[in-house]
Order: sequence, then structure tokens, then C-alpha cells
Amino acid sequence: MTSEDLHHSLCKIDGKPYPAYKNIRGSYKFNKFTLSIERVQGDPFASPSRLSIRIDHRSSLIDSSLFSNASRRTGSETYLARSFSAACRHGQTSLGSGKSGRLEIDTPVQEILKRTCVEIGKTETIVRFSVGLPANGRRILGKAAIGLLTETLPEIVSQALVLSKNDKTDINSFADTNEDADHLRSQLEDHRLVAFIADGAILPRASGIDQHPLSNAVPFESPASQRVRLTVPHAGEISGMGISDGITLIVGGGYHGKSTLLNAIERGVYNHIPGDGREQVVARKDATKVRAEDARSVASVDLSPFINNLPGDKDTQNFTTENASGSTSQAASIIETLETGSHALLIDEDISATNFLIRDARMQQLIAPEKEPITPFVQRVRSLYDQYRVSTILVLGGSGDYFEPAHRVIALDNYLPKDLTPQAKALCGDDFSISPSTEETTPFNIGIAKRFADSSSINPYKHAVPYRGSRHGGHRQQRPPRKNIKAQNTRSLIFGTQEIDLSLLSQLVNPSQTRTIGAALAYACENKLFNDQSIIQALETIVALMDEKGLSALDGNDLAEIRIQELMAALNRLRTLKIRKLGIPTEAP
Ligand code: ADP
Ligand code: MG
Repeated sequence: MTSEDLHHSLCKIDGKPYPAYKNIRGSYKFNKFTLSIERVQGDPFASPSRLSIRIDHRSSLIDSSLFSNASRRTGSETYLARSFSAACRHGQTSLGSGKSGRLEIDTPVQEILKRTCVEIGKTETIVRFSVGLPANGRRILGKAAIGLLTETLPEIVSQALVLSKNDKTDINSFADTNEDADHLRSQLEDHRLVAFIADGAILPRASGIDQHPLSNAVPFESPASQRVRLTVPHAGEISGMGISDGITLIVGGGYHGKSTLLNAIERGVYNHIPGDGREQVVARKDATKVRAEDARSVASVDLSPFINNLPGDKDTQNFTTENASGSTSQAASIIETLETGSHALLIDEDISATNFLIRDARMQQLIAPEKEPITPFVQRVRSLYDQYRVSTILVLGGSGDYFEPAHRVIALDNYLPKDLTPQAKALCGDDFSISPSTEETTPFNIGIAKRFADSSSINPYKHAVPYRGSRHGGHRQQRPPRKNIKAQNTRSLIFGTQEIDLSLLSQLVNPSQTRTIGAALAYACENKLFNDQSIIQALETIVALMDEKGLSALDGNDLAEIRIQELMAALNRLRTLKIRKLGIPTEAP
């Protein structure tokens, strides 16, 4: 069919009741592209209709250098999604009731993520978006739909998807920037680095609710002792601070930029768009922020490396609660992170449980060790690295207890880092306040047991009980179960009858990732992955599937890539989660 056929069909249904829009499903050839109307909404207030556009690289002038490898491709796709989004905002007008006239594409913000909304293929680009088909009440506004689909949309396409000379420069810089960042990250391991922060990077954000760079910020400048130089394909040689493996303390006065630095590192697991300020700030892909999150639930986690002898003889080797405390939640979150295979922890005092981080000499004298269930992190952090190669970057302005186990101490002074390792080590002396006794009485062993879920405890369906249905004919009908999965921004995920609270997962950065979590967990349930695989194996299976077949292997619109750490974190916060058995602990995480 052609665009004239679409024009004709829309004329025919003008003024008819809304469901007549179903007749326009199908594909239409336009001058430069093909438009497909894939799913039509039920009424103007329902979630908008789903459409896609396929445009040949010959028409869009996208040349193969823009997608010659995965990094360049994702960079270019991000650029196209952003420019399509900008053109939609520019082109749309309200055309009637409800969502009539709305044109929307999943919009990338600062992070560059692989997404389903734009896919650059070998010969063509596919763009998936949503449109509110116009109506007045429930009557179809055919003329408005003609304007929207056969005039506005082609304009958006030629503005956003057909590259002008300027566009070519810009899209190329997205591809280059993304390729450089991936290159940087891939060098971390060889240089035994957890993170790299380039000189000149802009770390602070415009505000707590705005991820754009802060204007007039002090650019990052590495201390000479920690400076490394790395080479990338486009920007060439870059100097910056390399944070080596091991234990790194970030100290300094209040408001001197400590948390800002750690936040930039935690976002460094993703790449950033040109102009963000953090284009050359990268962290190991598995670096994970762990924090206190009291009131969360915990399902069968072995907290014994940190917590023992809880009141009421509560089992800490197989710890389950509906309502964790600050310290137990942070201990659980560390063990769960290690279960994902992560080798880098990021911790900020601002959002940690103090009694989990430290217990000073006086308090140790006042409260006998056998009365205190918690072995503070300060006594474990070094063995975590020495025995298990798990590095930690820790922001701590209020206690010197970590000087001893730390490999290096970086102080921030007016936003600029200085290496104060020698000075901090000089202060350690003999009167180091950690009593060795606790370390001896509770030997450190973090063999991480892989957990196997009771698969009925992970239920994406709304009707937990079979529908009784009508009894006509003498037998009960079963209504097919209906999946109930809704992403609510990055705050929470409705999953079956449950709401999973994701609000404190700071490395979940985009609502499209929340949708991916929902789709991935549903996939695992439908394919019964939890029946015979451990939780982590099941999640690894899905991650491998997304890597191999792309995100569209999952069922859902507007998905974006996700790490196994966030998938795991979401599942760990599902309050119905039950563990049916613990596997044999593996040696090192
Ligand atoms: P700390 O954790 O040391 O108390 P923060 O990281 O929270 O400090 O930073 C305090 C304030 O300083 C924040 O408002 C932050 O945006 C701002 N800030 C951080 N780094 C810079 C910088 N390089 N230039 C300008 N302002 C900065
Ligand atoms: Mg802070």
C-alpha cells in the first residue's frame, strides 16, 4: 500500500467510531520511507498507537562508518532517537481528545544506552514510536489524522532521519564519543583500574533533579601521583586520574565534592553523550553502589561475614526479613552484589549505616564484642580485596579508621583531588583503633551460595487464583492469566500483584531500563528459567539472550539495556521472593 491508500482509508473512516482506526493497520510506502501502523489504541485516552518507520540508508544518507562496530552503532542510534524526539516535540500539536496528536519516541537523556526505539541495520534504520490517533470524543478525526500521518510525520522524518551536513558532524561525534568511552573502559582491566576520570571532566550536575552538567563547574584535575594516560581512537591520548584496584578512600571537608565524584564514577558504568562532561569518565561495568535501605525485604542471604548473633537467635547465614535495618540492608546488598559476580563496590557515607561502616575504640570498650552482632565493614574491606579481589571506593569524611586498610587516600579540596596517602598512613601508627579480636572470633568466609528461587514466588500475573468464570455448561472456565507489568519511571515496577521499590537503585538511570527489568523477569518466568537454574544463572541466561539477539528478543516496547546488577537488585526487592534452596557456596565471588 502507498501513502495515497492511507489517505484514502483515513477519509473513509472520518467521523466513524474510534475502533474503525483498526482498519488502517498495515504498511504504507512513502517517498523516502515505509510507515507501519502496528498496534492501534482502543480509544483516544488509552496508551497511544505503536508505529514504526523503515528508512533506507540511501535515503537517510547514513553511511557505514556510523555503524561499523557496536559502539559506533549505539552512539549513532542514540543521536537519531534524540533528534527524532526533538522533531516530534517541535511538530506535535494537540488534535482533539485525550492523547490525540501526541507523537513520542523513547528519549535518551545523558546516558548512551542500546535501545529498541532506534535500530540501525545493514541497509536500513528502523524507528519505533507512538502516536495518539486523533479523535473528538470517540469520533475519528480523519482529516487531522491525514495531516499528522501524511504531512507532519514525513516532515519529522526528513528533519530527524535524513542527515544534513551539520547532522553528519553531530552524529559522527556521538559515534566517536561512544567508541572512545568503550575503548577507555576496555583498558581498565589491563591497567588494573576500577575507574578513570579524565582531566577536564565536568562531574557535578545542574541540580538534584537535572542531570545536565552544572555550568561554571570546576573541571576535574588529577593529582600527579594518580595520573595515568590512556589512548583512544578519536580523542587520542587522554590523561586523568586512574583509581587502581584495591581500597580507595575519598575524604575531605563537607561540600568539597566527594559524593559528586563517587556519583560520576557510579554513572561511569554507562557512556555519556557529547557535551555531558562525563564522556571520559568510566568505571568497570560491574562497579556497584551499595547503600543502606532500611525497610526493604531480604530473602535468604548469608549475612554472616558481617552480622552474627542477632537477638532472638535469628539465622544470619540464611537471613530473611520483611523489614531490614540500615546495617542488615547494607550487608545484604553487598552479599547480593557479590552474588552477581561484581568485583567493585562503591560506598558513600551519606547513604550508609554508620554502625555498618565503623565502630570506634570507645564503643568497642563499652559494648563487648559478643554483644555486638555487626562486624563493621572496616574490618572486612581489606580481606575482601586480599582474598577475593573485590575493590572498594569509599567516601568517608567523618572517620580515620579506614586509613589503615586503605591502599590510597584521595582528599577533595575545593572539588580538586589531592593524594594524601602518605599523610594518612603516617597517622595510623600503633594505636590503630580496630581491635583484632573480632576478626579472629568470626573468620572471614564469603563463599557466596547461589540462591535457587521458589518459582511460584516470582509471579508476573495479575490473577494469582484461577478465575472461576461462568458455570454455564457445568464446568468452570479458566481465564488466561494476564501479565501485569508496569514501569513507573525509575521509581518502581509493578510486577503481578506486587510493586517493587527501585527508588534507591541509583544506577538504574532510565525508565526504559525499568521496562526491560519487567520484560526480562517475565521472560524468565514464562520460560521457566527459575525452575532449574539458580537466580543468577537465570539472569545470566537473559543477559546472554539480550547480547546475542538484541533487546527485541524480549516482549515489550521502548526497552533499554540493563546490567545484571540491576536485574538482580530488582528481584531481590520483590517482596514475595522465596528461596527454595541454597547452592553449594562457590569459593571466590
Ligand atoms: P560532599 O559529598 O563532599 O559533601 P558534594 O559532592 O555533595 O560534597 O558537593 C557539594 C556541592 O558542590 C554540590 O552542590 C555539587 O554540585 C557542588 N560541586 C561538586 N563538584 C563541583 C565542581 N567540580 N565544581 C563546582 N561545584 C561542584
Ligand atoms: Mg557527600
